[in-house]
Amino acid sequence: MSDKTIFQKIIDREIPAPLVYEDEHCAAFNDINPQAPIHVLIVPRKVIPRVGDAQPEDQATLGALLLAAGNVAKQLGVSERTKGFRLVINHGADAGETVPHMHVHLLASRALGWPPG
Ligand code: AMP
Repeated sequence: MSDKTIFQKIIDREIPAPLVYEDEHCAAFNDINPQAPIHVLIVPRKVIPRVGDAQPEDQATLGALLLAAGNVAKQLGVSERTKGFRLVINHGADAGETVPHMHVHLLASRALGWPPG
């Protein structure tokens, strides 16, 4: 049985999900249960279960993830088309984490309340 996370299976093209962005470090695809008109997940190819588990050697991956998120936002035109976007990283059950493969949520195209729920 495969121990791959669902996100690894998507990145490895074992589960069909159109990629909206990819580079050598990350891939991005639409969230299956969108919480905003634009809801994209940016996922590192390297599996880091959650952000608090990241190690010093993950610095480049973490940097690449944020750069990729900015690139996705530009590619989707969210800065121009809407008045902004939000990046979210959930760590642990109380934060709402459900997939133990660290990822950044990019949410846009609606007013996002603050503080978050
Ligand atoms: P989190 O709760 O922060 O761990 O985020 C996991 C996200 O993955 C949730 O927003 C889910 O809706 C999303 N998700 C789960 N399975 C899939 C899938 N097969 N394709 C796209 N998004 C998914």
